[in-house]
Amino acid sequence: MNEPKAQVARSESREIAELRRLKHDQPDLSSAVDLQIELLQLQRRIQARVPLPSIKLEAEYLGSLLANGPILQFEHLPVDWSDMRLLLRGTASAMRNHEALEEADFRRVEALARDAVHLPSIVRIWYESPRPGAPPVGPEAAGLETVLQQAMRPFLTRASDAVMARSDFTTWTKGFCPLCGAEPDLAVITTAAHRLLICSRCAARWKFDQITCPFCLNPDRRRITSFASRDGQYRLYACGVCERYLKAYDARQASRPVMPAVDSVATLPLDAAAIQKGFR
Ligand SMILES: [Zn+2]
Ligand SMILES: [Zn+2]
Repeated sequence: MNEPKAQVARSESREIAELRRLKHDQPDLSSAVDLQIELLQLQRRIQARVPLPSIKLEAEYLGSLLANGPILQFEHLPVDWSDMRLLLRGTASAMRNHEALEEADFRRVEALARDAVHLPSIVRIWYESPRPGAPPVGPEAAGLETVLQQAMRPFLTRASDAVMARSDFTTWTKGFCPLCGAEPDLAVITTAAHRLLICSRCAARWKFDQITCPFCLNPDRRRITSFASRDGQYRLYACGVCERYLKAYDARQASRPVMPAVDSVATLPLDAAAIQKGFR
């Protein structure tokens, strides 16, 4: 695969341009936008040198792995641990500077980044934690999931892009990611009116039922509240069974494709509204 570098750099600068526009239109989101731009710039610097994942990138082989659950094992991820430590420190400083991380947690991340011996096993437990039967994250990482997720992003998205280019997810009907096993935190409604879920960690996308709740698999549309944002750009699906919600970017009348790094910030007011109504 030779597409990546130029294309990634181009689309990321487009994301940054969209973020700046968002800040101009919604000054209330300034701090969240600035933080997101800093994180993207940090991740882009590293991403340019992340190699392909150590997995055979062959369609039939990947299809056979998909039959038994999420494809990407921890060993497949192209993590460079000195880069990971750099990313942890950079993510934590940016978050602290924008008041998105408590001082005590900032110090915990610093300690984690210094601990070259234990860091890989701590990250492995975090990575595997969404899988059925896996142990939850340990005390070293508990509460730092957002920091880990941001810091791991260059490695996860590189692996995910490479595998996605050679995989067919049409047989995958689950509510969690076919690649890394994490939950979706956004969806996109395509021009064909399909709903694709987008992984919160590796940004993989897969088609999912239009109404069913991906978190508890409740299919009863009477127990799903769905409404559009005032500008019609986003939808929110709130499940009356598990009380969780999912946001979606409606690409049917949009001027640009979904951009998780932009749309996650643009929908912060929707999150606030959903949380106020008791959803999580
Ligand atoms: Zn994923
Ligand atoms: Zn549910």
